[in-house]
Amino acid sequence: MPIIELKDVRKSFRTPQGLPVAAVDGISLAVERGETLGIIGESGSGKSTLGRLILRLIEADSGTILLEGEDIRALSKAQLRNRRRRWQIVFQEPFASLNPRLTIRQIVEEPLIVAKTYGSKAERLRRVIDTLKEVGLSPDFLNRRPANLSGGQQQRVGIARCLVTDPTLVVLDEPTSSLDLTIRASVLQMLARLQLARRLTYVFVSHDIETVRHFCSHVAVMHRGRFVETGTTDDVLSRPQQPYTQALMAAAMPPIPYVPEEREALA
Ligand code: ADP
Ligand code: MG
Repeated sequence: MPIIELKDVRKSFRTPQGLPVAAVDGISLAVERGETLGIIGESGSGKSTLGRLILRLIEADSGTILLEGEDIRALSKAQLRNRRRRWQIVFQEPFASLNPRLTIRQIVEEPLIVAKTYGSKAERLRRVIDTLKEVGLSPDFLNRRPANLSGGQQQRVGIARCLVTDPTLVVLDEPTSSLDLTIRASVLQMLARLQLARRLTYVFVSHDIETVRHFCSHVAVMHRGRFVETGTTDDVLSRPQQPYTQALMAAAMPPIPYVPEEREALA
């Protein structure tokens, strides 16, 4: 059973002039446990809208969305609240997504309090400390506030907050786009390590093809609310069939040339 399955999902918005915009225009997809589906496309192609629809952070106009086999469009508000701990999201702007008035401890503990099933105060604190450790932050961070952290540390807190309730599926909406290149690589490595350790299923929204190439098992190329090409990362990015994918790749920054040492020696 796929962890995520969408059938013909649609969502349109209206422009300030009242014109309809089909942000997500009939998307179907399936993601199996432990896979990472990368969604690439230009700005405005509908990637974030799709990510939010998958978790029902916004309501779809039509279509079916099954998470772990459950039809989430049919869940009541209370049922949905109860499932949230298993289906999480990490946003692009860590600082904007963290409440600046709360301490790191309060931020990471909050989902445990909302879920009501994580025991005593002492047990919750233990869980917060363990999760911070998993994302590379020591207990020294517990009483600090987001403004006193670097961008990379803030995003680690955002990831800890999402992992603390032990999710099965995580939507990552450009989680490293706002970070410096060196920090970006270490956060991506951490996400990959956590995925293996916890058998997480990821949907990874990005406009950066090289990041997707390294990080994702499967790719969907999105253009004006539709998927123009889908498949394994190798198929889509090494042998793109669609002119749109080819143009997107040609427009991207060229990858840094890399020649393995042995081959260099043979040449
Ligand atoms: P991406 O993440 O690929 O940049 P988005 O999903 O954010 O794209 O946006 C897709 C389209 O939907 C864009 O035309 C955007 O302007 C529009 N859109 C997204 N959210 C809203 C909203 N809340 N209200 C009106 N239009 C929206
Ligand atoms: Mg977006």
